[in-house]
Amino acid sequence: MSAADLDAGLAEIRTALVDADVATPVADALITRVRVDALTQELVGGLGVGERLLAIVHSALTETLGGTARELDLRERPATILLLGLQGAGKTTTAAKLAQWFAREGRRPLLVAADPRRPAAAEQLALLGAAVNIPVHREPLGTPVAEIGRRAIAAAKRLGLDLVILDSSGRTTLDDDLLTELRELRAATQPRERLLVLDAATGQQALRVAEGFAEAVEPTGAILAKLDGDARGGAALTVAGGAGIPVVFIGTGERSDALERFHPDRIARRILDMGDLDTLAELVQQRGVAKQGASPELNEERIKRGDLTFDDLLAQLRQMATLGPIGQVVKMIPGMGGMAAQAEAAAASGEFGRAEAIILSMTPAERRDPALLSMARRRRIAGGAGRALEEVNRLVKRLEEMRLLMRRSSGVDPSRLMAGGGALRGKHAGGHQRPKETQREKKARRKGKRR
Ligand code: GDP
Ligand code: MG
Repeated sequence: MSAADLDAGLAEIRTALVDADVATPVADALITRVRVDALTQELVGGLGVGERLLAIVHSALTETLGGTARELDLRERPATILLLGLQGAGKTTTAAKLAQWFAREGRRPLLVAADPRRPAAAEQLALLGAAVNIPVHREPLGTPVAEIGRRAIAAAKRLGLDLVILDSSGRTTLDDDLLTELRELRAATQPRERLLVLDAATGQQALRVAEGFAEAVEPTGAILAKLDGDARGGAALTVAGGAGIPVVFIGTGERSDALERFHPDRIARRILDMGDLDTLAELVQQRGVAKQGASPELNEERIKRGDLTFDDLLAQLRQMATLGPIGQVVKMIPGMGGMAAQAEAAAASGEFGRAEAIILSMTPAERRDPALLSMARRRRIAGGAGRALEEVNRLVKRLEEMRLLMRRSSGVDPSRLMAGGGALRGKHAGGHQRPKETQREKKARRKGKRR
């Protein structure tokens, strides 16, 4: 891959990041870093270069996200967690989730309604607390937040509770009154953990929100609520990479048990999957390989291990089509001589063309990893190829059988296993490739499929 190819690839990745709601300054910093890594790791050459570039992006994302999941510091008795965030971000819901989470770990939590002005807020927390069997502390309307905080902690001590979770008030926009209130609440309660709750769908605004709160309360971590549905997770990168606040939990639904520990590598994957980056890997790879004149679809190392993919099968099908009488090819495959007649019949009946249509209806990830092919996916593929579900099932089964066969006959030259040897493949490579979809076309097609 040349420097120009690399930059084209990086531009593609940047678009994918911004599409996934990563704030642009954060995306730019990441790209710069990936570029340096790619250059220092001498990411040039052909085979596997796309995958390696993706691996570099993935590890840069993971590292920016904090590397590993962080444990909260709750050693104090009672330990105190202050939740902060804009109105509607998910603070109250998250307060109940955390209470339930830590109750299951053996803690005895107290939920505190620390919004001195909105009775509805305290009411909501009281309901959520009751639903998960956690006591809720409330004070009369108008009690200053510092006072609410102090009294709540005293109450926790009196009741023998060892975890105080403060649900603070929020505004639709950050204003000085709110920040002053949060400063007072912090001073009065000295919470070791100050967790910023963010709506994962906040998008590009997440950075501004995080920075706004950071100045007043120095959050020790962030919780990304509403990371279910359409949210793309880029906000996690934005807060971690842009504001330096590590994400510690994610909210994945409205119910009180819809809370998960944050795993940087998983979110990195999710962010990468949202873009067309797997396609990018293939594109980069094919470009690199085209220059070398080899066939992009055949990875002999992999096949040697018996990890035959639909990409390989597709390559094989296309080769067979150009190699003349199918029987000759099949006869070269050890143990398959007896199947030659059968294969010829299959070719004559158009079965190979149908198999090709089915494979072409798979996403690149599915072609690489047949294990992904759940029933739902198979149904979608059948629909896309205009074939019956059973036909898709048969093809998947056939691939599995071929994999098994190859594992059994290890030690055999894999190029012979494929379809008649490297020389033949070299001669025919590239001569029968379909025009490649553009990124835009592919994206549109996938978006359509996701619905
Ligand atoms: P607050 O104003 O910050 O206290 O926000 P709330 O806790 O009242 O949440 C606002 C809305 O978001 C409510 O309708 C919640 O049910 C919803 N919500 C909170 N967390 C999640 C989540 O993780 N997933 C989904 N789907 N909805 C959530
Ligand atoms: Mg609330």
